[in-house]
This record gives sequence, structure tokens and C-alpha cells, in this order.
Amino acid sequence: MGLKYKRVLLKLSGESLMGDQQFGISPKMLNHYARQIKQLVDLGVETAIVIGGGNIFRGLQASESGIERVQGDYMGMLATCINGMALQSAMEAQGIFTRLISAIEMQEIAEPYIRRRAIRHLEKGRVVIFSAGTGSPYFTTDSAAALRANEINADVILKGTRVDGIYSSDPEKNPDATMFNTISFAKVISMGLKVMDMTAFTICQENDLPIVVFNIGDETNLAGIVRGEEIGTLVEG
Ligand code: UDP
Repeated sequence: MGLKYKRVLLKLSGESLMGDQQFGISPKMLNHYARQIKQLVDLGVETAIVIGGGNIFRGLQASESGIERVQGDYMGMLATCINGMALQSAMEAQGIFTRLISAIEMQEIAEPYIRRRAIRHLEKGRVVIFSAGTGSPYFTTDSAAALRANEINADVILKGTRVDGIYSSDPEKNPDATMFNTISFAKVISMGLKVMDMTAFTICQENDLPIVVFNIGDETNLAGIVRGEEIGTLVEG
């Protein structure tokens, strides 16, 4: 069976890990993600993941509470490592071989980021989790996703969200909002639509890296997308 995407970078937000909780990591969401990733592995898709940290800590919030911005950003990056460890455990429970990689060195729990080594893991069928974002403050994990996806020559970024794709306006506020099946990078910008933050989006645009925005709530979507089914919104060109 043909695969549309052979190597993917899946971006999972930290916030979505909360599930219906107010804070922290929902075991239900972890297992929900792990099951979907298992489907990709079983299809033979090389899978890398960038995990966010917003369920635990965001740098910008911290600056409001008197913590210096850069300090807060590092705290946010460490939050992504905690999520990465949790996701790694959930995936191992599904029998998936995984490697946790951190952009900030912490050898006891994660490998340092070495590009060729990360690619080698993928070639061997291991799922790679990139944590600690880019390793630098003032960025987001969306930017880390764009950066790593390009570095590992991923075919696509798959951005899991709570909605079905990119809409002409906020579907929760405007009942007439329509969803795009495909849309160009230029149109996303001219319409002022939010897919990822601008830094991340620009990295993808400049390097012709397509993004699929899809609803991760439906457990059949991820496998469907890599098989080439029309699911979510494809941003390209
Ligand atoms: N962060 C950072 N540099 C990075 C990635 C993340 O400083 O390269 C910090 C930033 O403070 C951010 C926090 O880590 O608010 C958590 O990441 P993010 O907000 O992207 O998580 P998500 O929205 O995906 O849950």
C-alpha cells in the first residue's frame, strides 16, 4: 500500500495533553496519542514528534508574574521535557521503540540533539520525541517543529488541533465559517489566519514544507492522512 508521507513530524501541543483537566497531563490523552502514533509505526511511517509545554508552563505567563522572560522560557522548555517523558512512557506501553531527545542537555533522561543520530533512529523505525523546543528562549515549540522538520527532511508537518482544519474565520464564533481543503501559504498570511506562529510559518514557507492541520480528536485521522486521504487542511505552495 502506498504512503503519501514516508517521514512525518507530528506537532502535539502541551495544552492538548491536559484533556479536560485544568492543568497537567491527562493519562487518557497520553494513551489517545500513543495509540495513534502506533498506527503510524505499524504503517511503516518514520515518525518524529515535537511536544509543547503549555499545559505546565509558558514563558510569557511567567513574565506577568515577575519571573524574567528568559528564565520563564527555559522553564517552559523544561516543561516540554516532562511531557516528552510522559509521552515516551505511554508509547513504550504500546510496544513502540522510542528515543527522547532534548535540545537542552540532560543526559540522564534524554539524548542530546545530534541531527544525524536523530535521522538514524527514524531509519531504524524508532519514534523520536524532540523536547526542550529549539533550546533557545523567545521561540515556541511550533518553531521547533518547523526547524526540526526541515532538519530531518520530513515530508510534512502534521499539526494536531481540536478543530477539523483551517477555517475562513473562527468556526466557534461564526456559523458561516468554511473549512479549506487546501490553502497556499500566501493566502493564509493575506487572510490573517492563524496556523502556527509567524516564525514557524515562515520557516515552512521558505523551505516548501507542507503543513496539514487536522483534528487529533478522531483516532482515524492521522493514519488516514499519511495514506493520502483528504483530511484536515493542507497548506502548501
Ligand atoms: N519555549 C522556548 N523556546 C522554544 C520552545 C519553547 O522558550 O524553542 C518556551 C516558551 O516559553 C513556551 C514554552 O516553552 O511558552 C512552552 O512551549 P509552547 O508554548 O510552544 O507549548 P504549546 O503551546 O505547544 O503547549
